[in-house]
Amino acid sequence: ATAVVANGGGSISSVIPGWFSEISPMWPGEAHSLKVEKILFQGKSKYQDVMVFQSATYGKVLVLDGVIQLTERDECAYQEMISHLPLCSIPNPKKVLVIGGGDGGVLREVNRHSSVEHVDICEIDQMVVDVSKEYFPDVAVGYEDPRVTLHVGDGVAFLKAAQAGSYDAVIVDSSDPIGPAQELFEKPFFESVAKALRPGGVMCTQAESIWLHMDIIEGIVGNCRQIFGGSVNYAWTTVPTYPSGVIGFMLCSTEGPDVDFKNPINPIDEKEDHNTSTVPLKFYNREIHAAAFCLPSFAKKVIESK
Ligand code: SAM
Repeated sequence: ATAVVANGGGSISSVIPGWFSEISPMWPGEAHSLKVEKILFQGKSKYQDVMVFQSATYGKVLVLDGVIQLTERDECAYQEMISHLPLCSIPNPKKVLVIGGGDGGVLREVNRHSSVEHVDICEIDQMVVDVSKEYFPDVAVGYEDPRVTLHVGDGVAFLKAAQAGSYDAVIVDSSDPIGPAQELFEKPFFESVAKALRPGGVMCTQAESIWLHMDIIEGIVGNCRQIFGGSVNYAWTTVPTYPSGVIGFMLCSTEGPDVDFKNPINPIDEKEDHNTSTVPLKFYNREIHAAAFCLPSFAKKVIESK
């Protein structure tokens, strides 16, 4: 199969005979490749190119603007960590907001918490929702929970309109700061998240790779330290199909009841499965929660200096 996907962010990913290579100005000089068995979907929404292919070794793969978003084999790492790092750090999260996350995987994880009463998700691209429901049912299962409400729109506008102090947790499951997600990495957005959180409420955002994006991370940490009056910590984990094989998370809490992200007080009980159709946890556990905050010296130095 040969197809070239032009990327709104300027990167070109080409499916050379039998392989998909993820080429982007976000990671110059390197490109992760996956062997392609079959292209299952290719479309162009109002916001981005959307593609799904069957890979030889990672199951089905979702690609947006030429950038791998998730694969069936390793999505558990990212979805579980971005959801449980914040939600296991506060008692009784009740009202949760997900920005982005159109594949539904974060919803699937948030739904595991029995204390959660209502989940809003604001995803800008209806095509991502539709394609995820069709090709990734074990991920999009998150939409089936009656506690979930989908809003199709820009997360920036949604948060600007959100009532102050109305959420216990905001999870920003965004694509990279190229294309529609660009503003989700900027100071005004983080200010609107802090406003929408209750005192001691928590935010967890997708925060790129310490191997590739220390400059972006430095900017995010600097902004968050100015904006959030509680804890501000950077965590990371392994996701083999993300560039450099790792992804980070920015965890912040607003002024109010103390939040110690490194010592979770609301452990998720593996039996606590409120979606009978949800697959059991594959990646997250208490030990890997604590370990996620242990950083290599080069990253620690930059992050702790902000
Ligand atoms: N959850 C995936 C995973 O497992 O790695 C990756 C991220 S998810 C696909 C990123 C989503 O953010 C995309 O569906 C994209 O459409 C959405 N998005 C980008 N910019 C947005 C914005 N400004 N407001 C709301 N959603 C946005």
